[in-house]
Amino acid sequence: MTTSRGTVLLIEDEEAIADLVRMYFEQEGYRLVHAADGERGLEAVRDRDPRVVLLDLGLPGIDGIEVCRRIRASSDVPVIMLTARDGEVDKVVGLEIGADDYVTKPFSPRELVARVRAVLRRSEEPARVPSTLEVAGFEIDSGRREVRLPSGEVVRPTAREFDLLWYLAENQGLVLSRPQILEAVWGYDYFGETRTVDVHIRQLRRKLDGLPIETAWGVGYRMGDG
Ligand code: CA
Repeated sequence: MTTSRGTVLLIEDEEAIADLVRMYFEQEGYRLVHAADGERGLEAVRDRDPRVVLLDLGLPGIDGIEVCRRIRASSDVPVIMLTARDGEVDKVVGLEIGADDYVTKPFSPRELVARVRAVLRRSEEPARVPSTLEVAGFEIDSGRREVRLPSGEVVRPTAREFDLLWYLAENQGLVLSRPQILEAVWGYDYFGETRTVDVHIRQLRRKLDGLPIETAWGVGYRMGDG
């Protein structure tokens, strides 16, 4: 019996990429499940219980954005999107609908493995002692991973959005730089892709209207006092 680091689901229509990715991940001790289109990918999310999903954006049938949306409707499994080099808009849309990260094609399989490890490291961290932080009338509950708005309405951000929110709230009053935020919330140095932070901040601002997330121009963000 072989031990495995767990199942990685790759949803990708290009066989050559799938073969390459499979080789690398199997070498690293993961089990790789490959689905060649979105329908089968969604089935595999349900049936194979993957620890992480690698999701190609350009898929025949249901496209990657829609697949991600449907995964998010029922699952918190980490999703890393595989995007085309010039698909900046796609990347942003992908993050907005709850993808955790993205890798631009052509990617090095080694880099992809590193990203998966980083994502999994985060999800394996021992659960923090549940506690609640209050900012400007917003109750942020780390046990339930949800936020009670001043109106009483409860909002559940995506896993990554919540981690970002918690980090800002724990450091209320401090200006946090984008690289600092990436390191703390994404768990590795995400060189040149600070846009990821901005997209997640925008989502938090949209979902948590009135929460005092301030922009420190040219630096990063700060949770104010409200
Ligand atoms: Ca494709």
